[in-house]
Amino acid sequence: MSINSLGRKGLTQNKEQEIYLSGKYRQELGSKTRNQVYCSNSLSRNSLEQPGFCVKSKIKSILIHKLSITSSYCLFYLLVRIPSLSQRCLATVVVAGSDRLRLSPTRVRTAVPYSLFSIGILLGLWISGCTASSSNISAEGEGKPLVVSTSTIIADMAEKIGGDEIEHQGIMEPGADPHVYEPVPADSVAFEKADLIIYNGYNLEPALIKLMNAAGVRAQKLAVGEKVTPLQNPEEGELVPDPHVWGDAENGIVMVNAIRDILIELSPEDKEVFMENAARLVEELRQVDIWISEQIETIPESQRRLVTTHDAFEYYVRAYGLEVTGTLIGMSTEEQPSAQTVKNLAEEIKKTGVPAIFAETTINPQLITTVAEEAGVKLAARELYSDSIGAPGSEGDSYVKMLLSNTQAIVEALGGEYSAFELKIKPTAEGS
Ligand SMILES: [Zn+2]
Repeated sequence: MSINSLGRKGLTQNKEQEIYLSGKYRQELGSKTRNQVYCSNSLSRNSLEQPGFCVKSKIKSILIHKLSITSSYCLFYLLVRIPSLSQRCLATVVVAGSDRLRLSPTRVRTAVPYSLFSIGILLGLWISGCTASSSNISAEGEGKPLVVSTSTIIADMAEKIGGDEIEHQGIMEPGADPHVYEPVPADSVAFEKADLIIYNGYNLEPALIKLMNAAGVRAQKLAVGEKVTPLQNPEEGELVPDPHVWGDAENGIVMVNAIRDILIELSPEDKEVFMENAARLVEELRQVDIWISEQIETIPESQRRLVTTHDAFEYYVRAYGLEVTGTLIGMSTEEQPSAQTVKNLAEEIKKTGVPAIFAETTINPQLITTVAEEAGVKLAARELYSDSIGAPGSEGDSYVKMLLSNTQAIVEALGGEYSAFELKIKPTAEGS
């Protein structure tokens, strides 16, 4: 099973059908034609042989889904887009007013479509009545629970623990930056359909958390990162919990166990599978945890210093005996560093003799490259996976592999002696 899925891409391609095929029905795609799948979705699996029922059920499902999707769109635009569009309309008018009502053609062109668009959405809302509730969708299928995860790291854990017993949909795609991720209508649909939403919390994904809380989502929710006692980092004069808890594999274990427990709650009949899958992942993380410490110890002590673009490695450095010499920006990637910050960081790097600094896969490497040039140090050959796992097939395409890849990058760039991780117990071994 692949993470993610249809998410955003699906919507742009073929709205209703793609959404319909997302989540709990996706796996039926296989070699069947879309129409066949569409039909089979409206049924429980064992009644596929009854064509008459299939057609009736199909029509009913299409209607329900069309209404549901309209309602999700309505909700999304009401809660997320209209406020921002309205602000832009208002800003346009205010700016125009301050120019003594000299409305430029550009401003008119901007304001009119937004206004018409907002009115259109409200009309659509009224016409559809926004009455189709997500419970209609759940009631029709007796399928597996639909679990929706926000970040790719959490999605990877949930898929590994839930296995074939859950349907899973990831919101973000590999490489997406959760700090600045902007929800799309498909996310609203996913939240509405979900039985369980797993998110990081500690404000890692602020826009998604806002959407999830504002939309009156019926799903059970788990802020899995908040199961870890956070480090408190100073941010603009106050202490703020650091959301990047997964940097320490032991925290990863806490997250895995929390996901296991909530999946058992959601689907008690699959308890054994969840226990076994989680045990396997926990064992792997225990070994990875020890391996990282051993690897970091091979770096000369004076060089165990990390310089990254954003402050995402505090848990990692504390767990494995490094220190953060500096970062360009703080815990969130929303801010932009000033020229002075770039200069100061370059000075600090020169002073401490750090041999290399690191770019991150979720952030444009341009500025950190400038810092490396100014400081006269090399930029590490491998980028660090900070807030997302890598694309399928990349070296960091799972949570475990991102820890391994990051450690390799750090050990090699800071003068350590890297040796590859080897899992001592085969993943096929029976879980406890
Ligand atoms: Zn971050």
